[in-house]
Amino acid sequence: MIFNVQLFVILLSNHQTMKLRPIEKSKLGTVDFENLDFGSTFSDHMFVCDYANDSWGEPEIVPYAPLQLDPSASALHYGQAIFEGMKAYKDDKGDVFLFRPDQNIKRLNKSAERLAIPQFPEKLFLEGLHKLIDLERDWVQPGTGNSLYVRPFVFASEPCVQASPAKQYQLLIICTPVSSYYNHSEVRVKIADQFSRAAQGGTGYAKAAGNYAGQFYPTKLAMDEGYQQIIWTDAATHQYIEEAGTMNLFFYIGDKLITAPTSDSILDGVTRKSVIQLAKDRGIEVETRQLTVAELIEAAENKTLREIFGSGTAVVVLPIHGFGYKGKDYDIGTPTDALALTLKTDLTSIQYNLTDDPHGWRVKV
Ligand SMILES: *Cc1c(COP(=O)(O)O)cnc(C)c1O
Repeated sequence: MIFNVQLFVILLSNHQTMKLRPIEKSKLGTVDFENLDFGSTFSDHMFVCDYANDSWGEPEIVPYAPLQLDPSASALHYGQAIFEGMKAYKDDKGDVFLFRPDQNIKRLNKSAERLAIPQFPEKLFLEGLHKLIDLERDWVQPGTGNSLYVRPFVFASEPCVQASPAKQYQLLIICTPVSSYYNHSEVRVKIADQFSRAAQGGTGYAKAAGNYAGQFYPTKLAMDEGYQQIIWTDAATHQYIEEAGTMNLFFYIGDKLITAPTSDSILDGVTRKSVIQLAKDRGIEVETRQLTVAELIEAAENKTLREIFGSGTAVVVLPIHGFGYKGKDYDIGTPTDALALTLKTDLTSIQYNLTDDPHGWRVKV
């Protein structure tokens, strides 16, 4: 057994310190970046911070490794667990950038509040994230489409099977290199008319682990029918379009771009709000309003529906080529001059430092 005895102490702001225990040998050379399976290869290090005795302790950056977990760890029983998703991008000169990371820690804390998880200090998160990505910069591959997906998450680690908020938690940040999320050339989705993802008053607006577990079964059924994903509708009536599994949705109808307003059943996507801004920058009229399934079908039938696309960190912007509803399929197709692709280019150009950043979204690492 090799013991790694190297240990550094890093000084953060506010006299806070962080420990760094670096790996002995990087795994970088063993990774086939041409054939990455999304989310199954992890970088050398991870950020870890424990919560106990009513406060977050000293964070550490340590080699990526399995955790030691008590079988009674609360998250395993009651799902008190939340996560985030963001990416680090590399430009032609080799500089590394994050995209609006402040939005992710704000949302993590919003999710934390809903799941009765203690708030994590914003500044500590951003500094820790910065140090981690700085250390892992060789894992960020250059070239548009390549990035390092960053997964912060918090879970209840307290060994206790009492059904109440835990008193111990762990926050971790792990990183996985990605090329592109979906390889499908044509994406078809099913509009939900039976199952629901999120209910009014529920946890839909939080990135809560259980929200995703609940989608797997209905999504599997939809996949068996030949769709890749589900478009969720409101739980009460199934008449209003909400969002997809990990994407917000946009509908280009006539000359208007329509997206549902965020609510307690819709996740407030960073990509969504960026896409809204970029569309407005291009002079496109964006309507943030509820859209009914009936209106969508009417638009598909009278051919005013020009495009549907999803937005999310993993996919950036994903054109949707058709949808199914109550056994009937509707084709849209995507024109080569699709707005979805224009907005995707606008967004990735900012993310990869290929253009100016008028809204100050890029953060250099
Ligand atoms: C993460 C997520 C999104 C997209 O959010 P981004 O910040 O754009 O990545 C949309 N919907 C759901 C349900 C999500 O979990």
